[in-house]
Amino acid sequence: MADPYDLVVIGSGPGGYVAAIRAAQLGLRTACVEKDATLGGTCLNVGCIPSKALLESSERFAEAKRGLSTHGVNVSGVELDLKKMLKRKDGIVKQLTGGVDFLFKKNKIERVQGLGRLAATGVVEVLDASGEVTASLQTKNILIATGSAPISVPGVTLDGEQVVTSTEALCFDEVPAHLVVIGAGVIGLEMGSVWARLGAKVTILEYLPTFLPFLDPDVSKTAAKIFKKQGLDMQFGVKVTGTTVREDAVEVSLERDGEAETLLADKVLVAVGRRPYTDGLGCETVGLELDERGRIRVDGGFKTNIPRVWAIGDVIAGPMLAHKAEEEGVAAVESMTGLAPHVNYAAIPGVIYTHPEVANLGRTSAECERDGVPIKTGTFPFAANGRAKALGETEGLVKIIAHETTDRILGAQIVGPRAGALIAELAVAVEFSASAEDIARSVHAHPTLAEVVKEAALDVGGRVIHR
Ligand code: FAD
Ligand code: NAD
Repeated sequence: MADPYDLVVIGSGPGGYVAAIRAAQLGLRTACVEKDATLGGTCLNVGCIPSKALLESSERFAEAKRGLSTHGVNVSGVELDLKKMLKRKDGIVKQLTGGVDFLFKKNKIERVQGLGRLAATGVVEVLDASGEVTASLQTKNILIATGSAPISVPGVTLDGEQVVTSTEALCFDEVPAHLVVIGAGVIGLEMGSVWARLGAKVTILEYLPTFLPFLDPDVSKTAAKIFKKQGLDMQFGVKVTGTTVREDAVEVSLERDGEAETLLADKVLVAVGRRPYTDGLGCETVGLELDERGRIRVDGGFKTNIPRVWAIGDVIAGPMLAHKAEEEGVAAVESMTGLAPHVNYAAIPGVIYTHPEVANLGRTSAECERDGVPIKTGTFPFAANGRAKALGETEGLVKIIAHETTDRILGAQIVGPRAGALIAELAVAVEFSASAEDIARSVHAHPTLAEVVKEAALDVGGRVIHR
């Protein structure tokens, strides 16, 4: 029998593949089992990367069509080549998934294709598509990084054609005349924006009366106003009760204020969240504990209830984000080898890659109030920033939440141009336990969008300059 592996990782998404690389760097003999034909998981294949490719391309199209004349650049005859746009996206995905293959080879990580199943202590069986066991891997440690899968709502059956998830919405071969999106969350806003920019009428139906609960109401209202102005028809407090596929349209049944209504759509995108993915993993066989929402239960060090079995990423609790999965993967592997890593959940930024972007970090004002934490806040609008004016992108604001007496930064929210890049400064600030004054007294280059962050920090201390 071959020597056992030090580590078998199940799943090659950003959690699994990054963990495998870190393990190899630390000298562990590592294998990674992946059921799909390509490496990279949801993120690289059908998530972060293809969606960002389409967001970027569709934004260029929208800008060429509508936005450049304000700069004195007149463009005419702008046409959409959707086939080429989709091909470009597929090319980027191919390059990046191939890149993970290259990194596996470079780090001598063994790639094993098939479904990984927990068979017994220290044994991962690998099954092919027909369910045959093709390998039985002996290992000292197992890291589960099996990610997540989309869910639907009662009465709405996904058919992969007209009623779809984000995976199919990344490759519609023509622009739907009317796209109905169920859920005004991250996917609804990103994919809704893509197709609206390319010419679809987009209606977003949200169950809750408001949206983006990880933002303070003043910030989420600003975002809602901007998206509505862009043509996204966002309707709140709407309960979708079912969909019926007709010959030439999908009928969406809904309830609003207790009244039943119907809408007709060409395509329906269901974007109401994702579930942890443990199908076929054999949790019952080995007695792996799940929580009430089907997530693998782990302790603060990513250990499951089974000795030497660890879990990270979307399949455990916490935000479903690629960078969260990566950090957890690294931390889990480092603690296996006796190091003492930690993941600071207060410093994990979230970004919605709309235009403008929306970014958040740490706690909201409401969460601080609920926990009895006294706060002060500072805001600053992009409209008063020179660089934002030069860019022609003046909508939105930065908001910083700090402790009332210590001035320590507890949270930050940004709606505005390059919000995803700007939040990085605040994430580092939170990691270093910085105060709002630390940011306010740091020199920010002029003219940059980062000056809006500085001014918001100045505003926390009541000494904003440019307003
Ligand atoms: P996954 O990436 O889901 O990978 C799990 C892997 O495990 C998959 O490859 C799966 O095939 C494999 N697997 C599952 N079970 C088994 C098994 N038993 N045996 C073998 N293999 C198995 N996050 C961001 O941070 N930024 C973004 O911009 C962003 N955009 C997104 C856009 C979309 C449309 C979607 C759907 C998601 C997006 N996300 C984004 C979320 C991000 O993709 C996930 O948080 C991230 O991929 C989770 O990583 P993971 O490694 O935990 O799991
Ligand atoms: P989400 O949790 O972001 O949003 C789901 C939305 O659907 C919520 O607003 C919710 O109130 C609403 N909803 C739930 N049930 C509903 C119903 N029956 N009718 C109408 N609305 C309903 O989920 P998502 O947009 O599907 O994204 C899934 C995950 O993928 C998220 O956890 C997200 O973090 C991740 N993701 C991240 C990014 C990014 O980081 N840029 C991009 C895409 C996806």
